Amino acid sequence: MVEIARYLRTLDIKDLINLNIGEPDFDTPAHVREAAINAINEGRTHYTPSEGIPKLREAIAQKLHRENNLDYSADQVTVVSGSQEGISVIAQTLFGPGDEVINGSPHYPSYVFNASMRGARTVFVPLRKEEGYQMTAEDIERAVTPRTKAIVIISPNNPTGGMQSLEELRSIAEVAQKHDLLVISDEIYERIVYEGHEHHSIGSIPGMMERTITANGFSKSYSMTGWRIGYFAAPKEINDKLQAVHRATAICPPSVAQYAALAALNGPQECVEEMSREFGIRRKLVLKMLREIPNVTVGEPAGAFYAFPDFSFYCGEDDEEFARELIREAHVVLLPGSSFGELGRGHLRLSFASSLAKLEEGLKRIQAYLEKRRSKLGLFP
Ligand code: PLP
Repeated sequence: MVEIARYLRTLDIKDLINLNIGEPDFDTPAHVREAAINAINEGRTHYTPSEGIPKLREAIAQKLHRENNLDYSADQVTVVSGSQEGISVIAQTLFGPGDEVINGSPHYPSYVFNASMRGARTVFVPLRKEEGYQMTAEDIERAVTPRTKAIVIISPNNPTGGMQSLEELRSIAEVAQKHDLLVISDEIYERIVYEGHEHHSIGSIPGMMERTITANGFSKSYSMTGWRIGYFAAPKEINDKLQAVHRATAICPPSVAQYAALAALNGPQECVEEMSREFGIRRKLVLKMLREIPNVTVGEPAGAFYAFPDFSFYCGEDDEEFARELIREAHVVLLPGSSFGELGRGHLRLSFASSLAKLEEGLKRIQAYLEKRRSKLGLFP
């Protein structure tokens, strides 16, 4: 990711189409923005309690109960400066040298990076297209060693768009209980879910609340990436430890943004559904156009706003160079799959958090460029 950003700085391409960005392109809903303006005008611009304002923690606890069947009380909820801070706090608090953490791969790199900063090792289990990019209990059980501390589950997933079924979560819960493991459940994409799929929180499975840290945030559901508000909920004893590290890291989450987040949770939810519907329309177009490219295969994302097509016919192992080639030749930016780990090699991540027009134009350019490349090589599929 960093390499692509660096590469882009060396070029001067005017009509570049960026399909690499992992954030919704919608404006933050108007009532949320208004709540922030009111908070500023009311002078709510000072430090807040470190763990977040009581009203927001209460609203989050209620949301987790209502939507996720999770019975955390407000004092088990900590509001953080984006769920990314939460990931860092969780790793700093819970992991140490020699610990092992099980993570699906291709993977969102932040968990791995934060674990490694604590001297902990990430053990990867494969997310396979044929299994809808789910982590399986069988793979996890095979990866468990006496050093295993936790399992990280990201569902819906970045970069694969995969989602864990309730059945698979139940089997994973059994493994976690059998080996006395913590589970970190990242549910940040939970509101962006496509037809035929349903989001489930592993913490709601009997016996799992006491070993699960549920992490979430406002960035993706409410198009609030720049406001930097996330949260986690955990058993009281763990949450108290996490809060101490959070306090030392951030003092408190941004005050004004907490009032905006409160309005997001308590206000009308149609905006969330509308955005999700729009992602669904884009997803259809993206899948259709990717499948028109000969020798490209792509799994159907069940949630989030990423497609993870396999371009290995065109790039072999070198997806980094292929991503640069598409920038130079087609003026379209996608991320190399290997930036999400070795198991992503040969793939590209396409974010459909861009307008339909941009997606259509970007994919047309990729189609045209690859057609030219195939005919030059005498490759006719
Ligand atoms: N978790 C996952 C799986 C993500 O993809 C991201 C951002 O892309 C985050 C957490 C961090 O989100 P934020 O810090 O904006 O809440």
